[in-house]
Amino acid sequence: MDEGQRDIIALGAPRHGKFGGSSFFGANPIGLTAEAPLSLPTTFPNGAQAAVLMTFDVEGTYGNGQGDMAVEVENYFRICERLADLGLKATFHVVGRMAEEQGPEFVRAMDECGSEVASHGQWHDIAIDAGYPFHGQYGIEVNRESIHRSCGVLSDIIGSPVNGIRLPYGHLNEHSYEAIEEEGLAWASNVAIEDYQNSELGYGCAPFRPVINGRPYGFVEIPLDSQTYDWSIWIADENNAAFIERVKLFADREGIALERTPSGAVTIWQAQIAKAIRNRSCFTLLCHPINLAVMSEHWGDPVEEFLFPIFDILAARQRAGEISVPTCGEMADITVASWEDKS
Ligand SMILES: [Zn+2]
Repeated sequence: MDEGQRDIIALGAPRHGKFGGSSFFGANPIGLTAEAPLSLPTTFPNGAQAAVLMTFDVEGTYGNGQGDMAVEVENYFRICERLADLGLKATFHVVGRMAEEQGPEFVRAMDECGSEVASHGQWHDIAIDAGYPFHGQYGIEVNRESIHRSCGVLSDIIGSPVNGIRLPYGHLNEHSYEAIEEEGLAWASNVAIEDYQNSELGYGCAPFRPVINGRPYGFVEIPLDSQTYDWSIWIADENNAAFIERVKLFADREGIALERTPSGAVTIWQAQIAKAIRNRSCFTLLCHPINLAVMSEHWGDPVEEFLFPIFDILAARQRAGEISVPTCGEMADITVASWEDKS
């Protein structure tokens, strides 16, 4: 196991609270269970039987991503323009401090192109030098400050309320969830669809009402990909065998070649999208755009070679009625409506 990976996992404990953790460290968060998952298959509002969500963690170099933050920020303008041209919507989880220090224009562009702006915490890593980088290692005060402050920063920029959050590393505890509920958010997106080390773990594709130790929370949790990540995570973590192994596992199962380039990653994601359609299910893709600002002699511009081809696939499949591409907020609304139908 690589030095960096050992560190990040070892940093996962100890923590405040009795429950929680991260779905991305090879275990389900302690005590977290799924209630009332969206019953699949279902018919999404455009008539499609499958849904694929496009989500971005917008974190610059405030987390562990590689790449040039100035390039990342500049990239958002053409990413948003392309989304608008294709009639596609994405969900952008933005670190509050990044919006304060590098914004506000790139955040406004995300909102103006019709996509959803959500929180990725006020700080990506909290007190990393002290060895406690994760939200789930803190009590109610720190969680409340991070969630409330980031939502305030973002909603001031876009001129409307923020309705959702993805906590950095998806690391949470009962205090994180209490603070999310207090903030009045409609959804969170923290947990893994399938654990990459053990497919028995994870929460499946369907959004659900999260329960910690028997206590249900008043928002929808939308599980996300923990296995195939954006290609560039593998590049950025090329010394980290586990990240590459998890993608290899998926490629092997799907019978496709694993080529660690932007176009190779298109093949991986294309298979993930096809699988959602085949299973009449849903799937939440995750891309870290800081890693689309990683330069290499092995590829050109990752936005052109990876992301835009993915957008084209999603848009074409949506036009054909094979998938719906909702924002997380829209997916949360669909889930809540399904609960109300049943009651
Ligand atoms: Zn992050």
